[in-house]
Amino acid sequence: MYREQTGQPRALSYEQLPSLMPAQGNSDPSTWRPDSGAWPPRTYQPHFDITTQFPLATKNAVLLHPRRKHVADPLASKVGGKPAWPVGEEWPNCDNHQKPFVLVIQLTQNDVPELPFPMNLDLFQLLWCPDDHVATLYGPLVITRWRSSTSLGSLLKSIPWIDEKFEAEYPEQVPNECAVYPERITESDPTPENIDEISAWINENAKEDLDALRVLPGYREDAYSLFAEGPGTKVGGFPSWVQDPWEPSCECGRDMQYLLTVSSDDVGDGFSGYRWAPSDVRRDETGLRIPDSIEGSGLCLGDAGRVYVFICTHCESLPISSIFQCS
Ligand SMILES: [Zn+2]
Ligand SMILES: [Zn+2]
Repeated sequence: MYREQTGQPRALSYEQLPSLMPAQGNSDPSTWRPDSGAWPPRTYQPHFDITTQFPLATKNAVLLHPRRKHVADPLASKVGGKPAWPVGEEWPNCDNHQKPFVLVIQLTQNDVPELPFPMNLDLFQLLWCPDDHVATLYGPLVITRWRSSTSLGSLLKSIPWIDEKFEAEYPEQVPNECAVYPERITESDPTPENIDEISAWINENAKEDLDALRVLPGYREDAYSLFAEGPGTKVGGFPSWVQDPWEPSCECGRDMQYLLTVSSDDVGDGFSGYRWAPSDVRRDETGLRIPDSIEGSGLCLGDAGRVYVFICTHCESLPISSIFQCS
């Protein structure tokens, strides 16, 4: 198995991080339309703030909104494509599958300062072996790198998984190259004890939102879950579990902290109407969204699954754990 390297600088603890940036969804919900073509992609900002009605825990999240595009700058934020990789550093290969890892996400501190960048480091990379690791993960094997963009030296020009013949057993777990268009949202506790009461409040007081979003009647009973947490590829917030929650522990004995989700579902799912459909999704003549109208990463993890990554910022090597879930 590939092992993480150690010896990177100690990360800032979450308490030391600069305060998260405010939510910046569409500020004018009366004019928001999923097919407005508004750019960059943004999700719906409800008319109501549920946290003023109920005392719910909130967390800020950054939806990445990957859209297919060649990103020439090796140092830029992206999904898929070529990362900034030092020429003297061996490209990681999976010992299980005898194949190269692929870049999934590269983010700069400028674009996503919410990531827990260690002191003096400003570039985050997440790679995985896209084939299934059945014995341990039932999904891709994830590794991460935290780097300084100014001390990389010469960059590797030929990236093995792009330039060499490479056949993944699960090609839909190899992302297409995308630019990212971060959107800040505020999420609230997805599993409060009084979830039925909150959903009833939304149906009573926010029918115009449910109508505008074309939420199907059968899903309105559980309305709160549509507004609690975003389903797409994102940094921070709540994990948005497909199955049961998972709470990994670090070898140091502490609980790990949720870092990010890589999702198959960057256009919102079919049941929540347009709740999480970004502004560049097109509609057909009956008003239904056309998922294929957006070209994203193309990732399809199992059956619309997600990979969740956790980190321990107390340990110098910034160890991570990942889990794959699908429906
Ligand atoms: Zn592998
Ligand atoms: Zn630890």
